[in-house]
Amino acid sequence: MQYLPNLIFIVILLLGIGFFTRNIKRVIRNVKLGKEVDLSDHRSVRWGNMARIALGQSKMGVRPVSGLMHLLVYVGFIIINIEVLEIILDGILGTHRLFAPLGNLYDVLIGSFEILALLVIIAVMVFWLRRNVLRLARFIKPEMKGWPKKDADLILYIELVLMVLFLTMNASDFHLQQQAINPYVQAGWFPVSQFFGGFMADYSVSTLVMIERVAWWAHIIGILAFLNYLYYSKHLHIILSFPNTFYGSLNAKGKLDNLESVTKEVKLMMDPSADPYAVPAGDESPPDKFGASDVMDLKWIQLLNAYTCTECGRCTSECPANQTGKKLSPRKIMMDTRDRLEEVGRNINQNKGEFKEDGKQLLDDYISREELWACTACNACTEACPVSIDPLSIILDMRRYLVMEQSAAPQELNQMMSNIENNGAPWPFNQLDRANWVEEL
Ligand code: SF4
Ligand code: SF4
Repeated sequence: MQYLPNLIFIVILLLGIGFFTRNIKRVIRNVKLGKEVDLSDHRSVRWGNMARIALGQSKMGVRPVSGLMHLLVYVGFIIINIEVLEIILDGILGTHRLFAPLGNLYDVLIGSFEILALLVIIAVMVFWLRRNVLRLARFIKPEMKGWPKKDADLILYIELVLMVLFLTMNASDFHLQQQAINPYVQAGWFPVSQFFGGFMADYSVSTLVMIERVAWWAHIIGILAFLNYLYYSKHLHIILSFPNTFYGSLNAKGKLDNLESVTKEVKLMMDPSADPYAVPAGDESPPDKFGASDVMDLKWIQLLNAYTCTECGRCTSECPANQTGKKLSPRKIMMDTRDRLEEVGRNINQNKGEFKEDGKQLLDDYISREELWACTACNACTEACPVSIDPLSIILDMRRYLVMEQSAAPQELNQMMSNIENNGAPWPFNQLDRANWVEEL
């Protein structure tokens, strides 16, 4: 019986880590449904980008208030979780404050964790006020109704509760230490919780022990539950922003990728010595679908982008199409891509690893043509994104599908493309008349 709490703890820990591993494997499998693309070049530049953008949060500073608050939550959450290591070891070994022999260093660590916990609580409250009282425009766009709003609020509540539990645990521990109750050894500095938990000063030892134990268990179970919640939440970005920024595009903004099969065909057309009926070497297989109508047609990095989206709306708030009342929101493009990818993933889970045609696709069922054609390709969204996501690339691939597979470009574009083909210019004038304007001067 003496080891029962240790055993219960180990079972809970294994379950928490086991479910988390299963979910991460599902994310990886779903991302791999995308088309292969080699992004292993320029590794030192990529490491630098990841360190600067994901670890250093370099793009968050563009909006200083939210940038600072985010930095506090991020640093606080990561550093406070160093304490989780001690909690886990205590839970497995049945010890209490295993790292206490670190002495002064331990005091400094616990003290700084407490100060950070307080700052996280303040930052979380500011975030909540911005979303729910100030109702900043980017948080109340149509795509943020329902689950996305609940998810954003839930994350804040969970972070708040975890920090309060951490301080409660320390506050009761502090009072037990004051009374030299075994095993509450004199260790740690509690600059926040000794005031926050001042009301516990008159509590009996048994009440204090009960509060400390409940807060301790709830804190660690809450952390494991939160870890597993990530898979269902936009909060997955706390993990995926690292690979996403590492594999982010190194091309100049606005550079379009060529379709290899089309490039080959054009080269063949331009080569006077080529046999027009010859099949180009290595091109015996039927060509791939041009562009994308569903998530499997996108590249894996675009699918990783979708899982990484924090739903912050910085892209949408910079998007000229959205600002002028068009239906397009680059954030929605990413959210739709993730929703469809998860739908495909669930389909695969239910059908023993095989995707069964479900009569749906990303185009039309999630993203409308109106949204796609509203994009000006200005790249403001990619510039604004704090985690190197590229919504424009998805829009362009889907447009490519509409034009090349369905000949379904809007009338104005079709006219322009015919003009380029026939007149060498987008306007409906004969090529021979192109210099006429000189005579009109
Ligand atoms: S590239 Fe398109 S989606 Fe992105 S900001 Fe510009 S108009 Fe909006
Ligand atoms: S794409 Fe980037 S900027 Fe847009 S909502 Fe997602 S994380 Fe924010």
